[in-house]
Amino acid sequence: MKIVDTHAHIHFPRCRNDLEDIIKRFKENGGVFLLNIGVDIEDSKKALEYAKRFGFYAAVGIHPHETKDAPQDFLQKLMELANDENVRAIGEIGLDYYRNLSPKEIQKELFQSQIDLATALGKPIVVHIRDAYEDAYEILKNSELPDPPGVIHAFSANSEWALKFVKLGFFLGIGGPVTYPKNDRLREAVRVVGVDNILTETDCPYLPPQKFRGRRNEPSYIRFILEKIAEVLQIPIEEVAERIYKNVQEVFL
Ligand SMILES: [Zn+2]
Repeated sequence: MKIVDTHAHIHFPRCRNDLEDIIKRFKENGGVFLLNIGVDIEDSKKALEYAKRFGFYAAVGIHPHETKDAPQDFLQKLMELANDENVRAIGEIGLDYYRNLSPKEIQKELFQSQIDLATALGKPIVVHIRDAYEDAYEILKNSELPDPPGVIHAFSANSEWALKFVKLGFFLGIGGPVTYPKNDRLREAVRVVGVDNILTETDCPYLPPQKFRGRRNEPSYIRFILEKIAEVLQIPIEEVAERIYKNVQEVFL
């Protein structure tokens, strides 16, 4: 069974001590694709370097938290990084009004300019949205998007929102939260959009599945996400994995 992690940060310090083992466990569990995600310019360089070391891919971008500290020439820098054959997306980019670590206006401005960059480069986007579904949707709906547009990472809204983003052409990134006992709303969204519109992700080191809550997440745990999706959709797990791999090929390969 081929498993894929479309959103991880394997270069973050919490993976430093046993990274070789983390990657080994992922590959032993069938891991064939991993998209390692950057959150600012320096971090994106590192994300790419680590991705290449293990034969994986990277996304480069400025996370909404980091937008206020972006260098003036960030678009130029991202463009240079995106020239690398292993950079398969622009991200993570978006809006985060939950922590509001950067002013909303700056978040919106950089979200827009990075969408436009991705469209110009013909690369999909990896979108981070927290407590900002209205504004993020407005921006995406009114933008010229890459084709295919990309993924709404760690999707966490209801099925109505799920359908709206799917209608724009996005895949929904589904990870650890789908296994949380109280999260019926997310399982309902998965049921409504179906396996052809989702991608699996860990957000390693964050958002571990239920049985590892409070601990570090890692890419091999994708199999617990697949198990839950298979249960929700009542499709054999091998088929879920196969169809999600097909989605990955469509967006990133
Ligand atoms: Zn992330």
